[in-house]
Amino acid sequence: MKVTVIYSPEYLMHDTGKHPESPLRVKRSIEAIKKSEVYLKGLVRVKSPRRAEEDEIEEIHSRGLLEKVKNLSLKGGGVIAPETIVSKETYNVALLAAGGAIRGVEGSINGEDKRAFALIRPPGHHAERKRSKGFCIFNNVAIAAAKALKMGIRRILIMDWDAHHGDGTQKLFYSNPSVLYISIHQDGRTLYPGTGDIYDIGEYEGEGYTINIPLPPLSTGKIALRAMEEIAIPIIEQFKPHIILVSAGYDGHYLDDISDLMYTSNTYSRMMERIVKMANKYSYGRVVAVLEGGYHLKATPKSIVKTIEALAEKPVKYERNRTVTSKSLERKAELLIKKIKNVLSDYWSF
Ligand SMILES: [Zn+2]
Repeated sequence: MKVTVIYSPEYLMHDTGKHPESPLRVKRSIEAIKKSEVYLKGLVRVKSPRRAEEDEIEEIHSRGLLEKVKNLSLKGGGVIAPETIVSKETYNVALLAAGGAIRGVEGSINGEDKRAFALIRPPGHHAERKRSKGFCIFNNVAIAAAKALKMGIRRILIMDWDAHHGDGTQKLFYSNPSVLYISIHQDGRTLYPGTGDIYDIGEYEGEGYTINIPLPPLSTGKIALRAMEEIAIPIIEQFKPHIILVSAGYDGHYLDDISDLMYTSNTYSRMMERIVKMANKYSYGRVVAVLEGGYHLKATPKSIVKTIEALAEKPVKYERNRTVTSKSLERKAELLIKKIKNVLSDYWSF
């Protein structure tokens, strides 16, 4: 299966100064992709994004936020939220990031590019309707989901495996049963933004359509995969999504300093393999991954390549596992999984 990588060198122009969310993240990643076996075998094509229209942004964000980002950029930039920078080019680049995610969804739904990886920045999953924050300007994955809804898709899965809880995305679809949001993240009591508790399950018609799996610090890929297998997969089997969007963040890698998770690049290929299986079963094969976090300049490119291999359904070569899961952590995870199943048992069967 061919994978479309959506990328533009214009993504480098969102200038954050000395900051972990640097242009090098995507620059190194596109370089790694172009050297990868899956690319050299002709299974990857790189396409340019388009700029999102203002009304596409306004499907998700307030006019006020859009104007705020635009005006701050016009003035030459500034700080829009703690650690969240707007530079002269940010407004344009943020439109291009949202447009990259939209382009992924459009291509996937019309069948031209069923599998896509939007290699975009700035990231998006912390951005709320009226607020940019947590390195995020506009919520790219949410804007892409809104596009899928507009195109008539009624069951959309957003799978978020970034180390941080995607609080912005959760809020935006909290009462919407058409968008199932599943997040596997480091427990909010130990990491920004502090949200993503197991009891936050959605509200009104959306009750039961928000799934939070907050892993304890030091959780390995083994634990994340087990949680995915036992909680996410059965729910996906019952929800039967017609498209799968992935908030693909790589800051849970053990080399990434920003979280305390202990994933390896194998973790990401394994998670994507499971998602691809679900997509082949229910979603006509449609999967669009959208880059979120991931700040280690070697681990992120490598893990992205692993994700793309899994998207292409190319047999993945696993590397020797570099992390060990302690018995006490396994027990903790077991209890957590049991508790989450309990909380969700009114809505889903396990
Ligand atoms: Zn993150």
